[in-house]
Amino acid sequence: MMKALRLPGRALGGFDHGVHPPHHKERTEDLPIQRLPFGSRFVMPLGQHIGAPSVPVVKAGDAVRRGQLIAGPGGFVSVALHSPVTGKVLDVGPHRYSDGTFREAIAIEADPYDSQEFEGAPIDWESLSLEAFIGEVQKAGIVGMGGAAFPCHVKYSLPEGTRIRCLLINGAECEPYLTTDHRLMVERPEALLHGAEIVRSKLGAEEIVIGVEKNKPDAIEMLQRSIGPGQPVRVVPLEVKYPQGAEKMLIKSIFGVEVPAGKLPRDVQIAVNNVGTIVAIADYFQKGMPLIERVVTVSGPGVAYPANLLAPLGTPIRDLLRFAGGLKEETRQVVMGGPMMGASIADLDAPILKGSSGILALTANETGRPEERPCIRCGRCVEACPYFLNPARFARLARARLYEEMAEKYNVMDCVECGCCTYSCPSGIPIVQHIRTAKDYLRSMTRKEK
Ligand code: SF4
Ligand code: SF4
Repeated sequence: MMKALRLPGRALGGFDHGVHPPHHKERTEDLPIQRLPFGSRFVMPLGQHIGAPSVPVVKAGDAVRRGQLIAGPGGFVSVALHSPVTGKVLDVGPHRYSDGTFREAIAIEADPYDSQEFEGAPIDWESLSLEAFIGEVQKAGIVGMGGAAFPCHVKYSLPEGTRIRCLLINGAECEPYLTTDHRLMVERPEALLHGAEIVRSKLGAEEIVIGVEKNKPDAIEMLQRSIGPGQPVRVVPLEVKYPQGAEKMLIKSIFGVEVPAGKLPRDVQIAVNNVGTIVAIADYFQKGMPLIERVVTVSGPGVAYPANLLAPLGTPIRDLLRFAGGLKEETRQVVMGGPMMGASIADLDAPILKGSSGILALTANETGRPEERPCIRCGRCVEACPYFLNPARFARLARARLYEEMAEKYNVMDCVECGCCTYSCPSGIPIVQHIRTAKDYLRSMTRKEK
């Protein structure tokens, strides 16, 4: 039997295991969000969210306006795509993705004479039924902006009999370097609270809880000051620890409730949304603006002028780096996302996507790992795993390609790839890479069986 949610419960502020990597946020945490000047060419991949790719509704040569629909949802677990600029569709076809692979995308050339002002109108959210609200969120193309890019409307589509009591806003931003949510909480607290109220009231939740790590005292203060009298909102300061922003860790920290393996936050009556996602919802209902831009932290010792940039989706990564002063010679790796869960970028001309929270330029100091040696059975990876898995065993079994055993006996599919095990391993074993290989193999076998 699942534990009931303790609603006005005391914030516990932490969870077991996890790691404390240096947070490196001092480079950008005090820098206001700047708008990146519009470039000339934009690429919008059709599959930049989890689920079925979007389906194009435009073709080469079509004129498009900023915010215009360019691709509709390709199924229920899918969202719409909109043009980030006013201009002309160049082509619909394969384009390079940040990992170097080619994927279907819509390329658009911006009109150099257009002001790129967005023209839209507010949407009367109060009169919408829950079903109509969910449809609007899908139509707006809104996905989880913390990196996962999971379609937001799917989270709000609750099975019969499921009740949400708390809307939990994830303001932990526990990945080192990243400060996009931090700046949104400081600079746009009203939008965040307004978006949260829309979602809370539509889901029928009793309260809104915003979890923020204690290393963002200005964000905590700004939110507390912005809460109106009688608003059912609590701001909960959290221990600074990675991965505090993982949904299940956040719920454990705040409510002391475990979400069992294989279950979702809604099974304990909680809906979790990231700060950027909720601000995107506010922008859609207040201004009619679908998801066509986002804040990206550009940081790391490989750039001279780190920044928090508001950039149109589809902008080449190179444009953001150029704005931050370009790559220094000592840069060894450019990463999309944070250093713990992010992925190496293979092509700087690839576009930023809905889930791109950061572009990090790292030098040998950050990328250098100890040379791989045999496991000394120190148990540090086991101590670090917040999901109480056995990473050392995963690494051993993956080397022997015993992938089925990893799933059947040791629940490898419960691993969220947080990277705590790899970070803590003194033998330099790339444990999480082994786990990814195993999970990819197991998923491909499941697909073949279907
Ligand atoms: S990557 Fe997986 S196994 Fe490693 S610490 Fe995170 S959840 Fe545990
Ligand atoms: S941390 Fe590394 S060396 Fe220690 S038990 Fe885990 S895999 Fe082995």
